[in-house]
Amino acid sequence: MNTLMASTIVALTRKGFPVHHAATMADAKAIVLKMIVDGASVGFGGSVTVRDMGLYEELQSTGHAVHWHWKNDEAKPDVFRLAAEADIYLTSSNAITTDGCLVNIDGTGNRVGAMIAGPKEVIVIAGANKIVNGGIPQAIARIKSVACPLNARRLGLNTPCATLDRCDAASCEKSMCNVTSIIERPVGGHKITIVLVDEDAGY
Ligand code: SF4
Repeated sequence: MNTLMASTIVALTRKGFPVHHAATMADAKAIVLKMIVDGASVGFGGSVTVRDMGLYEELQSTGHAVHWHWKNDEAKPDVFRLAAEADIYLTSSNAITTDGCLVNIDGTGNRVGAMIAGPKEVIVIAGANKIVNGGIPQAIARIKSVACPLNARRLGLNTPCATLDRCDAASCEKSMCNVTSIIERPVGGHKITIVLVDEDAGY
C-alpha cells in the first residue's frame, strides 16, 4: 500500500466511511461478495470497475435480484428506480480525495442520487488510480481529463473531450457533465463502505 492510499484510508475512516483495503481486484471481489447477504437485491451504478469485476453476473447466478441499466432490458427510468430501491447499491467513484471525499460527475444523476439517498447500504469499489492528492479541484480535473474522455469514447459520443482529452465545456453541446456530487460524509443513516484496491481499475 502506498502512502496516498494509506492516508486516504485514514481520512475516509475518520469521516465515518467503513473502508476495506484489497491488494488485488480478485480480493476486492471476494470482499464485496461476502458483504452481500443471501437474498439481498442489488442495484448498480454505471461503472467500468464494477462491470469488469463480473459482479452482476456472479450475483445473478446466485439468485440475487440485480438491477442495472447497463444490463437489464427494461426502460432506463424503471431500472434506475429499481436500482435505487434495492437493498444494496454497487458502484465506483470517479475520484476519491486523500482527505476523504467521493467526487462524481453524472450525465443523468441516477448514480449520485442513489449513492446519497438510495439504498441504505452502498458499496464503492475504487482502484488506486481514482485517488487524487489535490482536493476537489484535482478530483474534478481528473474526471474531466481522464474519466470523461474515456467514457465518451466508450459510448461513441462526439464531445470535445472525446478527441481533445480535455474539457472544452463552451463547445460541448451534448454534455455528460450534468450533475456533480461531493460526498464528504455518509448521510441519512446510509452506510457507504469503500473498498480501495492497490490495482488500477476502471476510469
Ligand atoms: S463538459 Fe463536455 S467536454 Fe467537458 S468533460 Fe464534460 S462531456 Fe467532456
